[in-house]
Amino acid sequence: MEIRTRFAPSPTGYMHIGNLRTALYEYLIAKSQGGKFILRIEDTDQERYVEGATDIIYNTLKMTGLHHDEGPDVGGDYGPYVQSERMGMYMDFAKELVEKGQAYYCFCTKERLESLKENNAEGSAFAKYDRHCYNLPKEEVQAKLDAGEPFVIRQKMPEEGTTAFQDMVYGEITVENKELDDQILMKADGFPTYNFANVVDDHLMKITHVVRGSEYLSSTPKYNLLYQAFGWDAPVYVHLPAVMRDAHHKLSKRHGDKSFEDLIRAGYLVEAIVNYIALLGWSPSDNTEIFTLKELEEKFHIEGLSKSPAIFDIKKLTWMNGEYMKAMDFEKFFALAEPKLNEALAGTQLDFRKIAVLLQKRLETLNDIPHLVAFFKELPVYGTELYTHKKMKTNDDIALASLQAAIPVLEGLEEWNETAIHDCLMALVGELGIKNGQLLWPVRTALSGEPTSPGGAIELADILGKAETIRRLQNGVSLLSK
Ligand code: GLU
Repeated sequence: MEIRTRFAPSPTGYMHIGNLRTALYEYLIAKSQGGKFILRIEDTDQERYVEGATDIIYNTLKMTGLHHDEGPDVGGDYGPYVQSERMGMYMDFAKELVEKGQAYYCFCTKERLESLKENNAEGSAFAKYDRHCYNLPKEEVQAKLDAGEPFVIRQKMPEEGTTAFQDMVYGEITVENKELDDQILMKADGFPTYNFANVVDDHLMKITHVVRGSEYLSSTPKYNLLYQAFGWDAPVYVHLPAVMRDAHHKLSKRHGDKSFEDLIRAGYLVEAIVNYIALLGWSPSDNTEIFTLKELEEKFHIEGLSKSPAIFDIKKLTWMNGEYMKAMDFEKFFALAEPKLNEALAGTQLDFRKIAVLLQKRLETLNDIPHLVAFFKELPVYGTELYTHKKMKTNDDIALASLQAAIPVLEGLEEWNETAIHDCLMALVGELGIKNGQLLWPVRTALSGEPTSPGGAIELADILGKAETIRRLQNGVSLLSK
């Protein structure tokens, strides 16, 4: 049997991290077993309609490499793949259930339903429908239909016993049937409810594995009963625990947690995000942490999913992002870094490639670039305390002497490149009989004006050029001489 999974997002206008993780697992479950990954847009809640929201879904899947085999934009044999375009096909299915005695017409008015709530011992809270219309004689039902009375179609739940299903993550879930309400399948406007459409769509699209957030776990017995009522095979259910901000709170865009787009804007790499979220609720049998999507496709196993809520740890993602940047091919890194360098260092003649080499090994996110390189453009105002460094065995006096000695030898250099600068500074260290750091630290400090910098004295001098290097060293001397 071919494995078929589907990603069924509602177009909300952004890609929540939890949703992207669901999409990733759906993709991996299919691809790890040579199956198909399908995209279905669940857009029937028109109140939540957001302009451009479906483009965000297509874009995210494209960027992350979660290519769908079927979907609104790529077609397939089981379309349409947009729920709002399927609206005509549900009534017949609901009527089929009525025929089978698994569903019934209900003509109750709003007022009557309201009064059921009031009569309920728990006040206006949830009240089960009292099956008033289930008991209507057939002829009366027909007469009402003929008279054009508005109706809904309700699912007839079993009165006794239990309904159980096996979830791949949560194990066996059992509910008492008497707790289940006769849920509405078709609304008075002739449209299906979300729950009904979802089941019919999954069946018609031959979905074998339904993967989604655990918030759907409690509705699943009803879904399962629908499959039974139709005599259809139920899919394998894979419910995923929530992605949490901390031990008590779910990740929430409304409370400021970042969506996928926010993370991209914050300078994170797509590959690192995908890798990181793969581990939010799944772990491989070995303890590997860094995977490409291809490797994930090979390694992924449903058994590795966990039911304990996963905490989204931005620090871990940031670390992983840095690892990705270090390991990246330089040209690819440069292509990503260049726009940020252009922005931060506009108007300079600096060699961006040399700066990018220094950055690649010490960057956590691309957005760190502007503040890490700002000093190349303009020497910041800094205090002389930066010259004191315990490990480098420097203080103001040593720094002053070192800078004063460095200026003339560097001025005397005819060629300006890393080797020439290195050789001349090393010769000076030997001449002065001091430690390397006692010369290099002050030079690095004078050139950057920062407590730390990408690159040391020699690299910075090379990039800044001779004139600017001398100017900054002189500036250091005058600061230290005050
Ligand atoms: N449209 C639902 C959502 O975005 C998906 C439910 C499902 O996967 O069954 O939460």
